[in-house]
Amino acid sequence: MRGKILNILRASAPEPVSGEELASKLGVSRTAIWKNIQALKEEGYQIAALTKKGYVLENIPDKLLPVEIAQQLKTKWLGHELHYVDSTGSTNAMCKTYANEGCTDGTVCVAEEQTGGRGRLSRGWFSPAGKGLWFSVVLEPPFLPEEAPKCTLLAAVAVVKAVNSYKGVHAAIKWPNDILLDGKKLVGILTEMSAEFGHINYVVIGTGINVCVPKEMVPPELRDSAISLADKAKEPINRVELLAKVLANLEELYEIVLKQGFKPILALWRNYSTTLGKMVKVIAPDTTYVGKALDINEDGILLVQKEDGTIAEVLAGDVSIRSALGKGNKY
Ligand code: ADP
Repeated sequence: MRGKILNILRASAPEPVSGEELASKLGVSRTAIWKNIQALKEEGYQIAALTKKGYVLENIPDKLLPVEIAQQLKTKWLGHELHYVDSTGSTNAMCKTYANEGCTDGTVCVAEEQTGGRGRLSRGWFSPAGKGLWFSVVLEPPFLPEEAPKCTLLAAVAVVKAVNSYKGVHAAIKWPNDILLDGKKLVGILTEMSAEFGHINYVVIGTGINVCVPKEMVPPELRDSAISLADKAKEPINRVELLAKVLANLEELYEIVLKQGFKPILALWRNYSTTLGKMVKVIAPDTTYVGKALDINEDGILLVQKEDGTIAEVLAGDVSIRSALGKGNKY
């Protein structure tokens, strides 16, 4: 109902629409219209009530409101169940709660702010209110638990395609779970899984995209290594539109995986990779070494040729990859 009211007000703005007209168009009472208008105002929509004329939509809040997302979402199923909050610990944790309660495949959780956003290895992910896209997706893939880490690669391709659709943005994927712009971290992705022997219950893919985090807001220790889309884009970025683009890409790519397996996704991933062909420093819990990132194999494992010529298979779970070039090029 609220979405329909907004559509009518949006189409008519700056001209007002009377309560009577809204009520008759939507087949409800004027009181029902009034109640819904109040609810929209509470969400942040600025709607003026002009005596004898009706309601005028004056401003739409810069928020990731479900009504706005639903307007732009072009997916068949992904994100049709969507949970939105102003603030949460982490959207991955939100998704896990909904998944454990039996939410639908493709449920999306979005927050304006995360107070305990996480990266891999329990590292934090800085997620200030209204400045990024902090969201997670629940998928219930029919493939084996061993395949789940490849969901990170899938999400990375979906996100990089979406961010690169903005003028001036040429981002690339750093294995396994980051997207870099100008060598700095723009996006972090964290995939978590609930599985039993040989069977995935669900996968949660969490994504943090810095959209317009002001430099002075970024914690000092991240200032040299983090970047926002707004720092490079030559056009304004609307967060709702960006989310809709990412979800559309994700659905399309996931459906390719369901039909054809991961092969086509790995091929796309290679095209967007900034890691392959580079000298990298692999930092594992028990060892650190330098080598050339040759390729990823069909399992998404990174193949690094060490200086002695041997080839190491690097699993995503427990390592960090840095550029081996040192100063000023952290990645
Ligand atoms: P890694 O760089 O080893 O792959 P993660 O993928 O686990 O690390 O990401 C977590 C790291 O990302 C944090 O330790 C921090 O350095 C950095 N970070 C945290 N928040 C942000 C952010 N909003 N933008 C860019 N980098 C961030």
